[in-house]
Formats: sequence, structure tokens, C-alpha cells
Amino acid sequence: MTDAPDVAPPAPAGAEAGSTATRPAVEARGLGLTYRTASGPVEALKGVDLVIEAGAFVAFIGPSGCGKTTFLRLVADLEEPTTGTLRVEGLSPREARLARRYGYVFQAPALQPWRTVERNVTLPLEIMGFPPEERAARARRWLALVELEAFARHYPWQLSGGMQQRVSIARALSFDPPILLMDEPFGALDEITRDRLNLELHGLWRRTGKTILFVTHSIAEAVHLATRIVVMSPRPGRILEVIDSPLPADRPLDIRDSPEFLEVAHRVREGLRAGHSYD
Ligand code: ADP
Ligand code: MG
Repeated sequence: MTDAPDVAPPAPAGAEAGSTATRPAVEARGLGLTYRTASGPVEALKGVDLVIEAGAFVAFIGPSGCGKTTFLRLVADLEEPTTGTLRVEGLSPREARLARRYGYVFQAPALQPWRTVERNVTLPLEIMGFPPEERAARARRWLALVELEAFARHYPWQLSGGMQQRVSIARALSFDPPILLMDEPFGALDEITRDRLNLELHGLWRRTGKTILFVTHSIAEAVHLATRIVVMSPRPGRILEVIDSPLPADRPLDIRDSPEFLEVAHRVREGLRAGHSYD
């Protein structure tokens, strides 16, 4: 990079060599989206101003229908804003999509049943034209990171729901994008599995230095994982509050019993309540 500053900002913990992003990962200004429907306009998102630094773990929390998925879809260039601007790593969403700057993890793992775990993970790489050895090496690396290397030759139906979701995370990581968009990835899992995957995802984030945008309904999950929590209101979806987490980087499960954790959870709940998200 020729335009790098003399003194680079410190990389996030565990960041890989080469992730030298100095721009915000995501920058939204006055962002709004109104869907046109047969029964009239639906204002899904309104006046969203948000800057997400590279390496942040940002949780979006709010009631159903407050525009969380819409925000991720805008970042992913799956929708176009009606108002405002959005930059993804300094690029337009379209440029960022073409440059494969993000991986998307959906609520349902959406794996291909006739492909092995390994060949599900390498699917994006096949489409992108990576050679077979490189695909295999990457599958090994990302499956190891989600602790599934022993299951490379299994089929999705041989795995539990939690394992399937870990495969879909490895697939989203396969081309090593700097940003992960995760839309309620653990919403369909039982609480015990979810707790374990929360720990695993947090470890993965610390080791890779990725920027993660994570949508959830769960206050506990949001507070446990995030460095920032974006609290949203019901329609039209707006940002009510952005809470910078005071929790330490190291977050074992029992941090959920700590006074600091309970304090942040309380603030999130109060934020939701003030925005009538409980009405
Ligand atoms: P969330 O993910 O927070 O539950 P969404 O972003 O999915 O919310 O939806 C926000 C609002 O926009 C909701 O009222 C929803 O019904 C509406 N909406 C979402 N997608 C569409 C669409 N493609 N067409 C029309 N309305 C939509
Ligand atoms: Mg949604």
C-alpha cells in the first residue's frame, strides 16, 4: 500500500498480516430504505448514522421488523438505499460486493445436501475459480477454525444444527473476507448449543480480527459478544442508542454473571423500552 500512514494504527487482537484497513469497515450517513409494496410504502429504515471501525464486533438488537436484516442487506448490496449514503471499506456496496469484502451467514445454514462439508465450504472458491489445492487448503484452515476438521467428508445431514451452522460460517470465511455479516445465525439453536457457539465465534473473532455485524434478538448474546451494541426501534427502524461495551476482551461464559455484564444488559433493555420496543 502506497498511501499507508507512517504509523499504522494497532491491528485488532489476532489480526492477520495484511489486514491493514485504515478506513471504517462500514459508514452509513442518513441511511434510509422505504420498500414499495402493493399495499403502499413500508419505511423499514430511517436516518441511520453509523460508523463501524474495522475489527469491531457490532451487535444489532431490536424487535422483529425494525430493519436489522434490511441494514445487512444494504451493506451486502442486496437492496438499494432510498436516502443517504453507505460505504463499505471505503467502497460503494456494489464495489464491495464485487471485491468480495464480506461473507454472509444466514439464520438457516442453507448447505447443499449432496455436497460434503468440505465441498460446501469450498463452493464459493469453486465459483471464484480457485485451483483445487488452494481450495482444499482453505477448507482445512477454516474447518479447523470452527473445530470441524474431523467432519470434512461428512454430509450436512450427518451433522447437528449447530455443526451445520459452523459449516456455513466456514463457508462465509472461505475467501477470507474482512467483514462477516451474520443475521441471527444461532437463532434456531437450543440455548446450550448457542452458548457454546457464542464462545466459539468470539474466539474466532479474536483470532482473525474480522469485522462482524451480528443481528440478534437476544440481549444476552448481544452483550456477551459485542464491542458495540446498536439498539434499534420498531418501524421505521432507527438507531435508539449505541452502547460501547466496557467488558474486557476475554469473555468466558460466566462473564454473564458479572456486575458489568448485567449493567450493560440493563442499559440495552432500558434502551429498547425507551424506544417502545416492548410495546
Ligand atoms: P428485522 O430483520 O429487524 O426483523 P426487516 O429488515 O426484515 O426487519 O424488515 C423491516 C421492515 O421492512 C418490516 O416491516 C418488513 O415487513 C419490511 N420488509 C422487509 N423486507 C421487505 C420487502 N422485500 N418488501 C416489503 N417490505 C419488506
Ligand atoms: Mg431479520
